[in-house]
Amino acid sequence: MELINGKEIQAFTLTHIGKEVESLKEKGVEICLAVIIVGNDPASRVYVNNKKKACANVGITSLEYALPQETTTEELIALIDKLNADKSVNGILCQMPVPKQIDKQAVIDAILPEKDVDCFHPVNIGKLSLGRTEILPCTPAGIIRMLEFSGVKIEGSRAVIIGRSDIVGKPMAMLLLNHSATVTVCHSKTVDLPSVTRQADILISAVGKPDIVTEDMVKEGAVVIDVGMNRNSEGKLCGDVDFEKVAPHCSKITPVPGGVGPMTITMLMENTLTAAKAQNNLL
Ligand code: NAP
Repeated sequence: MELINGKEIQAFTLTHIGKEVESLKEKGVEICLAVIIVGNDPASRVYVNNKKKACANVGITSLEYALPQETTTEELIALIDKLNADKSVNGILCQMPVPKQIDKQAVIDAILPEKDVDCFHPVNIGKLSLGRTEILPCTPAGIIRMLEFSGVKIEGSRAVIIGRSDIVGKPMAMLLLNHSATVTVCHSKTVDLPSVTRQADILISAVGKPDIVTEDMVKEGAVVIDVGMNRNSEGKLCGDVDFEKVAPHCSKITPVPGGVGPMTITMLMENTLTAAKAQNNLL
């Protein structure tokens, strides 16, 4: 069994991104990401801080817009319209979740697709399904990068995803299909989940429940990617996979922490770079 080390792949990828950002600077192109946070959710604050740190690390300027908890949809969209029109801003993201009075879909729809570095906009999701987008969904794209970096053959493999969310499960299925895997998507209504997951050469779990992936669900020699970010009964960060029992049966597996998480933020940096290049006709 081999661990797929997300931090190592992150370091390699960020170094490469940093060099490209530097060479764009030499051509007079400064890259800028606008990060919007609404309210005081402590987890969102941690995510936003990590994104700003990653920007600083690769030489991308980050602008933070912290709006109060009681912000309305109209006020938030007015800010997005301003950032859409600002040519010096290459990427815009609004940290989710937003407070419940805000129409989340209207906010996603308001960001210009070419500045939508989270790849949440319906236009970008549509382009993804056609295999025509350069901006890619961050977590799924990070997983593809980890598989490629680790020498896992995707083409022709049987991939099974547990979870069908708009940000992980569904775009993951589309990306794997674009890479010529044979893809099955499972969810809470799937009948006899273990019989499906045991067929997987590549098993990806994006459920959000500790230990939902057990030993009997994994084929001998499978590659297991754990997207889950949960707290166990002792309050420790853990994934969806019963790591101790499952790992000995895998050819490769991602740990939590230190697996998929670091790659999500890395792909956000790559998307911001890609957006800036596209906006400057440098792709
Ligand atoms: P989500 O929107 O809650 O979706 C969870 C999915 O799991 C749903 O499709 C649900 O099925 C399915 N599910 C729930 N219970 C199940 C069961 N018993 N058997 C089979 N499927 C079941 O979650 P998400 O946003 O995709 O996130 C999933 C996990 O990944 C969370 O722990 C999240 O924190 C983590 N995450 C990590 C990263 C990262 O960077 N590492 C990024 C994003 C998310 P239904 O559709 O039928 O309800």
